[in-house]
Amino acid sequence: MTTPTVAVGALGGTIASTSSSADGSEVVPTLTAELLVAAVPGLDEVAAVRAETLARLPSPSLDEPTILRTLQWAQAAVDEGATGVVVTQGTDTLEEAAYLLDLFWDRPEPLVVTGAMRSPAAAGADGPANLLTAVRCAAAEGSRERGVLVAFDDEVHQARWVAKTDSMSTSAFRSPVFGPIGRCVEAEVVYGVPADRIPPLKLLPGHAGGDPRVPLLATYLGDDGFIVDSIRADDVDGLVVAGFGAGHVSASMAEAIGRLARQVPVVFASRTGSGPTGRAMYGYPGSEIDLVARGAVGAGWLSPVKARLLLWALSLGGPVPRADVAAAFELRGRP
Ligand code: ASP
Repeated sequence: MTTPTVAVGALGGTIASTSSSADGSEVVPTLTAELLVAAVPGLDEVAAVRAETLARLPSPSLDEPTILRTLQWAQAAVDEGATGVVVTQGTDTLEEAAYLLDLFWDRPEPLVVTGAMRSPAAAGADGPANLLTAVRCAAAEGSRERGVLVAFDDEVHQARWVAKTDSMSTSAFRSPVFGPIGRCVEAEVVYGVPADRIPPLKLLPGHAGGDPRVPLLATYLGDDGFIVDSIRADDVDGLVVAGFGAGHVSASMAEAIGRLARQVPVVFASRTGSGPTGRAMYGYPGSEIDLVARGAVGAGWLSPVKARLLLWALSLGGPVPRADVAAAFELRGRP
């Protein structure tokens, strides 16, 4: 059997963070991809690894254009013969970066994202184990045709459902409702479901440098919609609202959403962290039925941050008709 080749691109995050203080505190991302790879025992038995440092940023400072450049780097890596690709980054925005990559990843080869909750010098650092799992996953034949995956704490998740659900735990990643699709056991990556994916969006040549403005707002008890009303439609390409329960808002917020939705796409998602937006259950002002009647679109099973990225990606080519937004969420917002 020929040795698989895996390209590892490093963006920064805790997995690459070191401290210059005597007590090991105040870590910041400094390590190169080469150093991350060199710290993993047994990695060379899994794959021939080509490491490249793409950025050394804390993940709250990543942005969509950086992730699209990472996408192009990953595409070039498979074009040059890589069996699979791994991206390491901070965990804070990992679920978002993985989903944005997944929306445009147009190759059968696996693209696997990972990170760490403990920095390399911490007792029980999880970075090397997560990177080993990610490389195993990227090298595995069974990972092909699955789009972008997240490998963390021995589990493999689909980019579109995975979420960081704990601020500190080493098992911070879960896929609410649907669960992980695979496990790394001993040296094997085992999947519980057949390979399947939604066809990716097309990234056109003029799109890669674009950066539409699509804010995300969470509603709250007593929200009267004044923030939505203060948004000038000319300043945004769309809006996502993280609503109560199955995507609900107050009656006055619903009116504000209706006013904005006449000008730019507005999507409502659920702020609960699990489960879809409703379709047909409630009829009061601010319910899912009312919001759709006012022109908003339900995110389905996509979390608010992923709904925001889908609307961002759709907006790369300019204003998107409501029907196209609704069709995209219908296709990509359900399992
Ligand atoms: N706490 C973060 C991490 O796990 C920091 C970051 O996202 O860069 O990597």
